[in-house]
Amino acid sequence: MLHTRVPERLEAELKERAADLGVSVSNLVRNVLTHAFGLVGDIVADGAQVARSASGGRRPAEPAPAPAARPGDVVGWQPMILGKNAVCAACNDVLVRGADGAVAITDGAGPRPIVCPRCLEEIRHGRDPFA
Ligand SMILES: [Zn+2]
Repeated sequence: MLHTRVPERLEAELKERAADLGVSVSNLVRNVLTHAFGLVGDIVADGAQVARSASGGRRPAEPAPAPAARPGDVVGWQPMILGKNAVCAACNDVLVRGADGAVAITDGAGPRPIVCPRCLEEIRHGRDPFA
């Protein structure tokens, strides 16, 4: 059992997609996560197909939502093992508890965005995954 807090917008999107696909929200989330991590042992019936539908979708792709926590005064990025589920602030990838990630060390009390290892590599090479 996995409980996680998601932004309202994501929750609405998940409910809408689940309704479109005729599956429950938890089935959709399970299938998307299963698909994202390439696991095959635990796929429920038609899981791969549902995940493909959910990621491909029958609607045109929407532009990614503007990152809510675009870092301003980031002093550095601290790699870490996630203690909670998170969403990459740059590419919106779902990051599950126990996965690698990096958290922004910021000047001041602003948000401390989390990025996935892939976006961390972009940052490491001087590119801006938030652009
Ligand atoms: Zn990312």
